[in-house]
Amino acid sequence: MDQIISSDYLVVGGGIAGLTFALKVADYGKVHVVTKDLQVESNTFYAQGGIASVVDPEDSFDKHIDDTMIAGAGLCHRDAVEVLVKEGPDRIYELLEWGVNFNRRADKPGEFDLAREGGHSRHRILHAHDLTGAELQQALLQKALNHPNIKIFEKHMAVELITEHHVLGNLQAAFNICFGAYVLDELIGKVKAFSASYTILSTGGASKVYQHSTNPDIATGDGLAMAYRAGVRIANMEFIQFHPTSLYQPGKRSFLISEALRGHGGNLINSEGKRFMPEYDPRAELAPRDIVARSIDAEMKKRREECVYLDMTHLPALEIKERYPNIYNYCLHNLNLDITLKPIPVVPAAHYSCGGVMTSLNGQTSMQNLFACGEVAHTGVHGANRLASNSLLEGLVFSHRAAMKIISKVPRNFGNVIIPPWDDSGVQNEYEWRLIKHNYKEIRSIMWDYVGIVRSTQQLDRAIRRISLIFDEVENYYRKSVITRELLELRNLSATALMIVKAALRRNESRGTHFMADYPESSDKFLKDTII
Ligand SMILES: Cc1cc2nc3c(=O)[nH]c(=O)nc-3n(C[C@H](O)[C@H](O)[C@H](O)COP(=O)(O)OP(=O)(O)OC[C@H]3O[C@@H](n4cnc5c(N)ncnc54)[C@H](O)[C@@H]3O)c2cc1C
Repeated sequence: MDQIISSDYLVVGGGIAGLTFALKVADYGKVHVVTKDLQVESNTFYAQGGIASVVDPEDSFDKHIDDTMIAGAGLCHRDAVEVLVKEGPDRIYELLEWGVNFNRRADKPGEFDLAREGGHSRHRILHAHDLTGAELQQALLQKALNHPNIKIFEKHMAVELITEHHVLGNLQAAFNICFGAYVLDELIGKVKAFSASYTILSTGGASKVYQHSTNPDIATGDGLAMAYRAGVRIANMEFIQFHPTSLYQPGKRSFLISEALRGHGGNLINSEGKRFMPEYDPRAELAPRDIVARSIDAEMKKRREECVYLDMTHLPALEIKERYPNIYNYCLHNLNLDITLKPIPVVPAAHYSCGGVMTSLNGQTSMQNLFACGEVAHTGVHGANRLASNSLLEGLVFSHRAAMKIISKVPRNFGNVIIPPWDDSGVQNEYEWRLIKHNYKEIRSIMWDYVGIVRSTQQLDRAIRRISLIFDEVENYYRKSVITRELLELRNLSATALMIVKAALRRNESRGTHFMADYPESSDKFLKDTII
């Protein structure tokens, strides 16, 4: 019989949420972290702008809470927002102790160099130049690698949560429990059983479900899809945040042009060089993301153009090069574009999943022994639209709380649990790359065309018919096929797409990131979460 790989804590995903959690519980038991790609690859790694937190004496918790609630358009859970904002500074100071470096002011070296982003009423974004995510990911990873109780399994992709449906033995009162996960070891192509007293989903987001996305390839909604299949409660999947400004470079991997550039004074202009945002919103470039993304979309449609431009040319060149070295160098080397001399071509792209696996304020999901934190979770802080730079903070604050909760718990004994090895009997199909690639592309273009920045009932009806068909086809194919990462990602992407369309069809109004052309107003009838 295949060996079961056991630990006290199984952490699925090694971004800011998973690694923070791992570090917090590592002194209390054995931690296994599985990451489906290389250890460093995550959304966290690519974050540019920074982390929002109240560290300036002139700022206040109330202001950060208000800004978050306003962006969330009526659906933020106030208790969760208060936790996020009030516990944020402690987590930031802890990061400093862990070796993370944030930029300090040149004129007052003791003080943080705080940036301002859309929707924030103050400068409160801590950053490490425009490479904040890389700074965080590397610091957390290094600390985790140095801890004797943490073992990281890279290129290990979780396939399915292990629940009472899988296990054998005399379980006592065993209902709705997670015992770990089946995980594909990509290097040897074999599925192994990882058992644990507690399983933490920290698999990040799902924006790869859209044709244009700022996310790296790992963001295929795996945690959401696994939770969905296991019957765990999921909320607000219709709220996908589109980042207003990803670099327009057709056919190439997307690259984010950080919000911080607009906060720094960048102007959005059309191909005639005319600044257009003031026509759409009095806050102009500093309006919340959903408004800026929709305005760009409208401007592009009105003018039938493929992109708009972000103009930084009126700002001091040296300052731009020093503050945004990553963006400056990327544009220079990939587009031969000096952003201090010429405007940057930009388009909106899917960026962030505001909804996710429903959790308590301590990360507990609706399944026993299963916790979720980071972008995969729905804690209630983002409502219908995430405020910029609140997501790294959410990953930090709520993974800390989940860890504290679990440490304080006495593990329950569910009796004699036997986890059987993965059963792949009856599997015949050889891996069919063409079918997978075609369906993958099809899902992403359906989602972009019909479930994008502006939606309508007609478009969503069309999308659900097509996505349901693909979903059934993929499930059928999955049952007969040898498992590969590509096939699993396709399966998870189709489940995630289905959840998004289903949730969108249930919200006949416009709110936050969800804009329906046939229901352009918000309605109090829909002042509630959409729960699947
Ligand atoms: C380009 C870009 C810029 C951003 N800028 C900012 C910013 O400035 N400020 C901010 O607050 N937010 C920003 N965000 C959002 C933020 O980075 C993410 O929301 C956050 O990093 C998510 O962290 P996480 O730990 O939940 O997931 P991630 O960092 O995405 O980590 C997910 C982990 O799960 C693993 N994984 C996924 N599926 C599986 C599976 N099936 N099996 C095993 N492992 C799996 C991955 O390999 C990875 O290790 C940005 C996002 C992007 C893409």
